[in-house]
Amino acid sequence: MYIVLLGAPGAGKGTQAELLREKLAIPSVSSGDLFRSAIEAGTELGVKAKEYIDRGELVPDGVTIAMVAERLAQPDCTEGVILDGFPRTVAQAEALDGVLAEMNRRVHAVLYIKVSEDVLLKRLAGRWTCRDCGAIYHEVFGPEKTRGVCDACGGALYQREDDTPETQQRRIAVYLDRTAPLQECYRAKGILIEIDGDQDVDVVHRSVMAAIDSLEGNDTL
Ligand SMILES: [Zn+2]
Repeated sequence: MYIVLLGAPGAGKGTQAELLREKLAIPSVSSGDLFRSAIEAGTELGVKAKEYIDRGELVPDGVTIAMVAERLAQPDCTEGVILDGFPRTVAQAEALDGVLAEMNRRVHAVLYIKVSEDVLLKRLAGRWTCRDCGAIYHEVFGPEKTRGVCDACGGALYQREDDTPETQQRRIAVYLDRTAPLQECYRAKGILIEIDGDQDVDVVHRSVMAAIDSLEGNDTL
């Protein structure tokens, strides 16, 4: 089953992708992981992507799509995949359809985890990151045991500069602006499923699973 996860920063996409991966036993592929592993492995595409990232520019769609295509061609993706953070635009969605069509596959479901803006801001505001291992803690939803100290490695926690309320608000607005046409595109295809993401992680996960079970119930797979 090929699934696309959509949701603003702070919507809990990463967490839901992880829970889904365990449940469905198919890999979850985030655009961040994709870039990181291609760059680390020094592949041709990774080298290209790094040039853009180093210049502070957006990686062009052609490079990103080629990376996704490369990943989807790997044997662990034959049964399906959970895409997290890709596609972001209608053009990327169309390119993804093309890549999958060549493999005789298609996107079965697009799960949009919808979270209201005030909840997003509340979640993003309390986020602290470990300087050493990158672990993320949250003042309310998942605090560290000793204030300011990473549970995993003992490193110091800091608040990223881009985690201030003003930049967060802007990031959310930009995200919603850019992805509205993408949602419409998937809605028109009849594969967009909205999930109420304002609730607790496990409640959201149950809604996600119910949506997937209802898909498996009909014979669209
Ligand atoms: Zn740490």
